[in-house]
Amino acid sequence: MIPFTGNPLDRASARRSDAEFLRACMMDAASLVLPMWRLQPFLLGPETASTPLELGLLRPGLAEALAAPDAPCIFLGLEGERAMFALDISAARDPAREGPLAGLGHFRDARAAAMMLPDRDVAIMGEAKALIDWHERHGFCPKCGAHTVIADGGWKRVCPVCKAEHFPRTDPVAIMLATHGDACLVGRGRHFPPGMFSALAGFIEPGETIEDAVRRELMEEAGVVAAAVTYYATQPWPFPSSLMIGCFAEVESRELTLDKTEIVEAVWLERDEVRVLLNGGQSKGVWLPPRIAIAHHLIKAWAERD
Ligand SMILES: [Zn+2]
Repeated sequence: MIPFTGNPLDRASARRSDAEFLRACMMDAASLVLPMWRLQPFLLGPETASTPLELGLLRPGLAEALAAPDAPCIFLGLEGERAMFALDISAARDPAREGPLAGLGHFRDARAAAMMLPDRDVAIMGEAKALIDWHERHGFCPKCGAHTVIADGGWKRVCPVCKAEHFPRTDPVAIMLATHGDACLVGRGRHFPPGMFSALAGFIEPGETIEDAVRRELMEEAGVVAAAVTYYATQPWPFPSSLMIGCFAEVESRELTLDKTEIVEAVWLERDEVRVLLNGGQSKGVWLPPRIAIAHHLIKAWAERD
C-alpha cells in the first residue's frame, strides 16, 4: 500500500454540520482524540522506542485542557460507531513533559512518524495534519481580511463579516516517471540530498489537465517530449496539502536539456539497474526515494513490469 492512502474512516460528511452530534461524540468515552502539537502527531511510548510506533489516540477529556479555546478540534470521521477527532494543542508549552500527557508518549515530526507507523495510522495522521495545517494558515478571510471562524467539525471556515465560506484545499501535483524503451528517467532536485534521484514533479496549474501538466513539466525540466501519458495512482501528501498524481510518460528521445534551477542532475536507468537499486544494491551512486513517497511505488511498479 502507498503510505497516506487507505484511510479506514467513514468521513460521515453529512453529520459534520450537526453540532449536537459532534458534542455528544466528544462526551462519549468510546471516542478517540489525536493530539497534534505544532503539527506533530502524538505517539504512544517513549521517543527512544525502537518497536513500531502507535498513534496516540486518547479518550476524550485527557488533552482538551491543553488546547486554546478557539483551537481547531477536527472531526476526522467514524470507525464503526466510534468517532475520531484531532485536536490542536499547539498552545501548550511542552505537553510531552508536563501536564496530563506527560509520560504517555511523545510528539514527532509528521514525516518521520509516517515512516514508523502502521499504514492505517499514517492515513489518519495525514488527514489530521493536512487539516490542522490548513487552519493554521487560514485564520483570515482572503476576500475581506477579517478573522475567520471554524465550522462543520473543522471542514470549513466562515467569515463573520462578509459571510464567505472557505474550504480546506488540496493542491494537485503531477509526478511522472518518464520512460524510453527499457529505461526510466530520474532527476535530482536542487534541495535533494546528494545521491538521491526521483521522478520529476510539479504543481498542476489552473486551466491544465493532468496530462498537460505532465507534458509541460517534462519539457520545462528535462527538455523531453512526452508521447503517451498514463495514470498510475494518487497519494494524499500533507506537506502541507498536496495530492500527488502519479503518471508514466513515454518520451520520444533520451536527449536531455535540464533546467538547472530545478534539476541539477538527471540519469536514465535501465530496468535491471532499477531492480538492483530497489533490492538495496548499488548503481551509478544513485539512491531512490523511500517507501513513504509515491515516487518509490511508481518506480517499483515500472521496474516489476516484464
Ligand atoms: Zn470576509
